[in-house]
Parts: sequence; C-alpha cells; structure tokens
Amino acid sequence: MNLVLFGPPGAGKGTQAKVIQDQRGLPQLSTGEMLRSAIASGSTLGREVDAILARGDLVSDDIVVSIIEERLKKPDCVKGAVFDGFPRTIAQAEALDRLLAGMGRRIKLVVELKVNDEILIERVRQRIAQGLSRQDDNPETLRNRLAVYYRSTAPLIDFYKLQGKVVSIDGMEPVATVTKQIADVIDARLAARVE
Ligand code: AMP
Repeated sequence: MNLVLFGPPGAGKGTQAKVIQDQRGLPQLSTGEMLRSAIASGSTLGREVDAILARGDLVSDDIVVSIIEERLKKPDCVKGAVFDGFPRTIAQAEALDRLLAGMGRRIKLVVELKVNDEILIERVRQRIAQGLSRQDDNPETLRNRLAVYYRSTAPLIDFYKLQGKVVSIDGMEPVATVTKQIADVIDARLAARVE
C-alpha cells in the first residue's frame, strides 16, 4: 500500500511513519531526512538546499520529485511506501500520481494528523529544551515552516479529499493512541480493497 502521512511540521508524521515501516515493512520515504543527509554528506545537492532548509522554505518541486522518483525505483518500494513530508505542493502530488501510475500503482490512503499550532510550538520548545532539536527547530524558523505549510501544503488536503482518500486523526492524542488509530485505518482500507 502507498500511503501519505499528512500534517503540519511537528505533527508526528516521522514518528508514525517509522512505526508503520517497522510493523508493515513499508519503507518510510521522508524527503526531509533525504535532504538532511544530502546536506550532511556535503554533496552538490546538499550545498544547494542547505540555506533553504535553514530558513524553513520549500525546496523546488523538481528537486524533491526527482529524489522520490529515484527512491521509488528501489526494490523495497515494490509493496508500497509511507510518504512522510512529501508531497508538499499540488504540483508534487500530481507528479507523484504520474510516477505511481507509470508503475501501475497509486496512493491508496492519506492519513491527516491534526494538531493545533500551540501544541506544535510547544513540542519544538520541548525538543530544544531536551537538546533534541534540528537546525530548523527554532521558534522563528518554525513560524515560517507553519506559514509555508498553511500557504502551500494545507490546500493539498482538498486535492486528496476530492479523490476520497483522506482520513483525519487527532494527532494531539498520546503517540500510542495515534499509532493504534492509524493501524485501524490502514487495516480497514486494506480490507475494503478500494481500487
Ligand atoms: P521535514 O523533515 O519534512 O520537516 O522537512 C524539513 C525541510 O526539508 C522542510 O522545511 C523543507 O525545507 C524541506 N523539504 C522536505 N520535504 C520537502 C518537500 N516535499 N518539498 C519541498 N521541501 C521539502
């Protein structure tokens, strides 16, 4: 199954994608992690995107789509994947649909994690206090990441709602509760065999 985890920065997409990867053997495809590892490796791509991530802006659609295109060719994606932080624009979603269609696959489910801004800001504060913060986990960059999310990414939910693919979950519940709810949604979708 190909599924998209959707939600604002700090909603818990990465945490839940890792659980799905472990439990179901569907690889977590996180463009954010791929870009951070390109930066860490000092590659040309990494140097190109470093400042963009530091500001909390979006990397160009062409770059992330080609990263995903390459990643989808790997054999571990043959049974599907969990998209985490991708797509982030309508153009990316359309490109993903085209890529998957070319492989005889499709997005089957979009799980939206709903979390209030105040909670997202508080989660980042906690990560900073615990020394677990990333370069782009600071109050100013987070404000920009949220603005970018509402401007460029949130409209995508209607794109997927029109396709009848969205299930919304309260991402403010404890992690284990969210995990269970996502598992139930995936099982229901698998059982329904929606084509
Ligand atoms: P994330 O780890 O998903 O929060 O992503 C971290 C940063 O990587 C974002 O703030 C963007 O700068 C960049 N990024 C990750 N995924 C995408 C994407 N699909 N489109 C554009 N930029 C992205």
